[in-house]
Amino acid sequence: MPHDQGPHVAIVGAGFSGLLTAIQLLRHCPAIRVSLIERRAAFGPGVAYDTGNPGHLLNVRLDNMSAFPDQPGHLADWLAEQPTWRAQDGFITRGMYGDYLRHLLDEARDGAAERLTLVRGEARSIEAEAAGWRIVVGDQVVTADAVILALGNLEPASPSGIDAAVLASSAYVDNPWRIDVERIGAARSILVIGSGLTMVDAVLTLRRTGRRFTALSRHGLLPRGHATVPPQPFSGEFSGGPAEVLGQVRDATRTHDWRAVFDRLRQNARILWRGWTPEQKRRFLRHLRPVWDVHRHRMSPGTAREIASLLASGELTVLAGKLTGAVLDGGTVEASWRPRHRRRPIRDRFDLVINCTGPLGVIQHSAEPVIRDLLAKGYGRPDPLGLGLEVDEAGRLTNAAGEPAAGLYAIGPMTRGAFWEMTAVPDLRGQARDLAATLTAGLAQSAPL
Ligand SMILES: Cc1cc2nc3c(=O)[nH]c(=O)nc-3n(C[C@H](O)[C@H](O)[C@H](O)COP(=O)(O)OP(=O)(O)OC[C@H]3O[C@@H](n4cnc5c(N)ncnc54)[C@H](O)[C@@H]3O)c2cc1C
Repeated sequence: MPHDQGPHVAIVGAGFSGLLTAIQLLRHCPAIRVSLIERRAAFGPGVAYDTGNPGHLLNVRLDNMSAFPDQPGHLADWLAEQPTWRAQDGFITRGMYGDYLRHLLDEARDGAAERLTLVRGEARSIEAEAAGWRIVVGDQVVTADAVILALGNLEPASPSGIDAAVLASSAYVDNPWRIDVERIGAARSILVIGSGLTMVDAVLTLRRTGRRFTALSRHGLLPRGHATVPPQPFSGEFSGGPAEVLGQVRDATRTHDWRAVFDRLRQNARILWRGWTPEQKRRFLRHLRPVWDVHRHRMSPGTAREIASLLASGELTVLAGKLTGAVLDGGTVEASWRPRHRRRPIRDRFDLVINCTGPLGVIQHSAEPVIRDLLAKGYGRPDPLGLGLEVDEAGRLTNAAGEPAAGLYAIGPMTRGAFWEMTAVPDLRGQARDLAATLTAGLAQSAPL
């Protein structure tokens, strides 16, 4: 791709983060050209919103899902023009939200066709050039002045203890985002490892008469539900380390709805996180994360009702414990786990095991070629907790020597080590706008990207 028609930014990953960064760049920087690189069939919806299942609802109210921080009504205005859509307690389907993102992509292409290039394929390696970067995408090469990594969450990794024969068999699904519903066929008893929103999704996708699900996680905690009507906002402040903040949360929930307290905490999370020492962050991840996750990542009220009814009917059982083994026995899997606070393991048989432990938590263990390549070449390094890539406030990667990597940025969940709350649209849309503003300001001063 030629360098001679104005600055060129390549964005790897065309989910929400990559798409919105592209749109913000095209809007605010008339000279810029953008290439969006995506390995999935669809550009825009990413992993979360590429679903046609009507049971898959957003887990954030539509009022807070506009793609643009300065246009809070943008999604609602778009929905008002759509012939068919339905909100349940203020939550639309994730598929509908995917259509919204596809619409934004079409609009961007209509407005700046000659400045936006879609490149389909997997970016596998990145190389610094004299001026800029070279990305290998399948058998193509994309050259750019700056690269933004919008890779989303790390792919899940299988939990330890599962026998290699199980991992290689059709009785095991390692990535719940790629469940082949047809292949699962007649499976009646399903062990789901994990009990968070990923488990909820898998169960809602696969539920059918006569099928039983057992969800196993260390704490056996289920995500809480959103209220049918949004609670009165809480406007208090939080300060100090994880233990102090926990105390302030407990105090606040004596007089306010816990959801409002967590929503406020979430708004403060970035500042709190940046003020904590690495040891405080580690303590939070070790001891408080399970509690944070189930209060912060909530089910829509409709989804919560579905899950409650599956629990009541016995179709879904949630257990607290640690998987200790899983071996193939004939066509079924014999799994064993140690219940929480108990020594003696329990065994049971399942037709199918699904890994719903969520995104991989340690970037050093990632098998993604582009991440391994980047770390091996020292263009980036893991953040001190290994949650993702180390970036500065602007999103610029820190290289292996501890210096800012010129023209190499990351956005989205990969930057959680720096910001913590960088997983959902209400945070990502602001990050996309700010990153585009940083690049635009640099160009206006003729600084290198
Ligand atoms: C099931 C689910 C439901 C969710 N529901 C909500 C919700 O209701 N509300 C909310 O605010 N948030 C929700 N989230 C959080 C969601 O992660 C964010 O809203 C947002 O979609 C993240 O976008 P992203 O672009 O950062 O990541 P992704 O959507 O994961 O996009 C990353 C993209 O990069 C591509 N990619 C990765 N590596 C390469 C490579 N080497 N080469 C080429 N392409 C590559 C991937 O194929 C992918 O399309 C949900 C998440 C999940 C998983």
